[in-house]
Amino acid sequence: MAKKNTAEAEDLNLMNIVNRQFDKAAQHLSYPPGLLEQIKVCNNVYYVQFPVKFGKEYRMFEGWRAEHSHHKKPLKGGIRYSRMVDQHEIMALAAMMTYKCAIANVPFGGSKGGVKLTPREYSPEQLEKITRRFTSELIKKNFIGPGVNVPAPDYGTGEREMSWMADTYDAFHPGGLDNMACVTGKPVSQGGIRGRREATGLGTVYGLREFLRHKEDAKTAGLSGSLEGKKISIQGFGNVGFWTAKILHNEDQAKIVAIGEWDGTLHNSTGIDINALEAWKAEKGTIKDFPGCKHTPKGTDSLEVACDILIPAALENQINRDNMHKIKARVIAEAANGPTTTEAEALLLSKGVVILPDIYMNSGGVTVSYFEWTKNLSHMRYGRLEKRLDEAKRESLVRATEDLVGKQYLTDLRRKLVRGMDEVDLVHSGLEETMITAYNEISEVIKRVKKVNDHRTAAYISAIEKIATSYMELGIFP
Ligand code: NAD
Repeated sequence: MAKKNTAEAEDLNLMNIVNRQFDKAAQHLSYPPGLLEQIKVCNNVYYVQFPVKFGKEYRMFEGWRAEHSHHKKPLKGGIRYSRMVDQHEIMALAAMMTYKCAIANVPFGGSKGGVKLTPREYSPEQLEKITRRFTSELIKKNFIGPGVNVPAPDYGTGEREMSWMADTYDAFHPGGLDNMACVTGKPVSQGGIRGRREATGLGTVYGLREFLRHKEDAKTAGLSGSLEGKKISIQGFGNVGFWTAKILHNEDQAKIVAIGEWDGTLHNSTGIDINALEAWKAEKGTIKDFPGCKHTPKGTDSLEVACDILIPAALENQINRDNMHKIKARVIAEAANGPTTTEAEALLLSKGVVILPDIYMNSGGVTVSYFEWTKNLSHMRYGRLEKRLDEAKRESLVRATEDLVGKQYLTDLRRKLVRGMDEVDLVHSGLEETMITAYNEISEVIKRVKKVNDHRTAAYISAIEKIATSYMELGIFP
């Protein structure tokens, strides 16, 4: 029995899952084995135990920052606060960041960090102390900095933590002109960028739209048409799950038939009003008891709901041998990192389910983080220089067409036509472009490489080819 448990644990180990996914893709490529090994391994990991004093009490915390690949610099990846964090998970997530950046054509190497704790169990003051202390540990070892390693939010962290990190880095580097570029996902007032908050969810939606635009791809999952009216179930109503749900509900008129959270799942087969749920959660701190919905006790119930598209947006290993036979969705859009185990994936692919992989689907976060980093280095808000010029040009065009036909546009339409591009428009446009280009590159691999017909393997091939080219062009330092 103990033996079986060990084997199961090995199977669920995210590092093993990522390495198996890598190997599955690498067998279709003919690079020297040593080069593939160099791409696959995690270059270095910093493990630290640090004390924090709360009143008279001392408490110890464990933290990690893994640097997977230095083929591009700086390195980039989120910081996660969770009691489930361990070194293997952080290394695996760092590797996924490398592949994700390559897929999204974002010029960073992959990194990831985490602190083992449950945020709910600490006050904001305590979390601030922990975050500042962890940041100072990263500074001491050169594991953070605008040109070396740039963290971002992840599970259990957000704008608030990023702001504390930036401020701590700034305190250690007085006068550093680019200090604010040491971390992304900051509040806009602290050098953040408009559009970062919703970036990962919006990227997931852009990915789904592009998938459905590829009619042949959608047909393999038995789907056609747009997202309008599609039944969608989402696990997780945090940053990624919430924004994905909100955009799908408001902009695509999709039907969100279930939402899972840590304390249960809401069901409504005619569609949940996401805006009302947002207000409910803001007031009550939970989605529980939201009116008009059936409530079941487990967050994982959301995975087994009858729907067209299932979006896991919480944690890894959620779709596994215990529930894989109960999955009813035709498409799994992985907004979370590593939500599907190898065994579950094999079964679902054999049943014709399309899995849109995490390393593509949630790359919107790092893409907009890249825009934030370049904004911080340029010290200028996007659109500031050209917005009024853009508006003046649009105004002349609109006036010219009005003069030509002798009629005026309706006021609302006129306003829309004349409005110049602001930061958020540019960010959304850059994100959409990134997600469309990346999907087409993955699709091209499926067409080009014999015997590859799943999106994950194709995404890995696309990433490995780009990273291998980079390493070969750089050469190896003696
Ligand atoms: P988050 O902490 O904001 O949200 C996660 C949500 O999942 C929380 O609301 C939590 O209560 C809920 N949850 C916990 N256990 C659950 C369970 N058993 N069933 C259902 N829900 C549960 O985190 P996030 O930033 O939204 O990240 C979610 C996932 O997306 C993670 O895998 C993360 O690595 C990945 N991701 C996040 C970003 C980003 O920009 N935030 C970018 C890329 C990938």
